[in-house]
Amino acid sequence: MSTPERPLSVGGDIPTGSIEVLSASDPGDIRLRLKRDPGPDVLAIGYYHFRAAGVRGRRCRFRIVDVRKDAAERLAGREDYEDGWTGTGPHASYDRRHWFRIPAAIDGADYVFEHVPEHDVCYYARWAAYPPDRLLDFVAGCQGSPRLRVGTAGRSVQGRDLDLLTITAPDDTPDTRRRACWIVARQHPSETMASWFVEGLVTRLLDPHDPVAADLLRHAVVYVVPDMNPDGTALGHTRANAAGANLNREWIAPDPERSPEVHAVRTLMERTGVDFACDCHGDEELRCNFLGGPLEIPSRSARLDGLFHDFERAWHDASPDYQLGHPYPGGAPATADLRMAWNWIAERFDCLSVLLEQPFKDTAWRQNAALPWSPERAVRFGASFVDALHGVVGRLRP
Ligand SMILES: [Zn+2]
Repeated sequence: MSTPERPLSVGGDIPTGSIEVLSASDPGDIRLRLKRDPGPDVLAIGYYHFRAAGVRGRRCRFRIVDVRKDAAERLAGREDYEDGWTGTGPHASYDRRHWFRIPAAIDGADYVFEHVPEHDVCYYARWAAYPPDRLLDFVAGCQGSPRLRVGTAGRSVQGRDLDLLTITAPDDTPDTRRRACWIVARQHPSETMASWFVEGLVTRLLDPHDPVAADLLRHAVVYVVPDMNPDGTALGHTRANAAGANLNREWIAPDPERSPEVHAVRTLMERTGVDFACDCHGDEELRCNFLGGPLEIPSRSARLDGLFHDFERAWHDASPDYQLGHPYPGGAPATADLRMAWNWIAERFDCLSVLLEQPFKDTAWRQNAALPWSPERAVRFGASFVDALHGVVGRLRP
């Protein structure tokens, strides 16, 4: 009996997929190229996510050509950094839910990895994919909690809903001084670790048996926008929205046509006020979790400076994955870029507002095969955020 043919097929035409296939006729020499986002942002390249079929038991060698050019553009002005491709491998998955790392190497200007898949179909991504249907399932599954209301913050350029989760304790006698705490994620769609982080954070906030979450929600209303850029997510972009805008440069004057996502969320923030904000990102180069704080905004103050450092310490006490002592990379700029969410929010609302960066690479302090930086670890890191916010919520306002 003859076995049916198993032709090799490689492509990025899957949810949140992104890759250009140059050649996939020989499993030992699969040639790929990164796709650039629309728009003027020179950094808007680097994400990939694709599927390979007919690969079981075959030694596949994937070569993403010319990644070094993109790396050089990213590192302009901070050349002492290791680039985002060195010393790190892609995430791979057979079932699109569990992801594992495989090693990769730099070869000239190219990025090369070999894999002998155990199954016929395997998925590869720069970091574990977080497709839109996973978010839909997550939000749908949270709806049983009496602490949660699900609404729509606004619509994207292409008309997709921006989900807004409002989480607080459903008491009969609400504390009218409950602090408005905003969490936004995925302004940059390729930084998928932010979504796993949000899953961990929201799951813990809704846990009826968790005393820290319960106490926090007596003092706070937590607003969560889990995906600020659903078009970019759907289109497999690295940083841009569907109009080619880098949303994290739009906060001073968001254009309703070009960046309706920021316009809508900013409008809601004006309505609720903001006492705390966290904007969740991922960093391709650095091997640590780090925060940017409201330390360089025009109206910076000893109060905000103290709150920021108290928040850092509280997080460090809650999780060894938040290590103290990582100053903002490249040193503090003399003036804050108010086009960025965290700076604009801090300046507008005189509040503790932070930028969170999780690593694409493994963290340096615990870099081993048994505990790599992974979706599972990002989820737990998100859960630990609840302790950190609880540690400062009583002091967010004088
Ligand atoms: Zn980012």
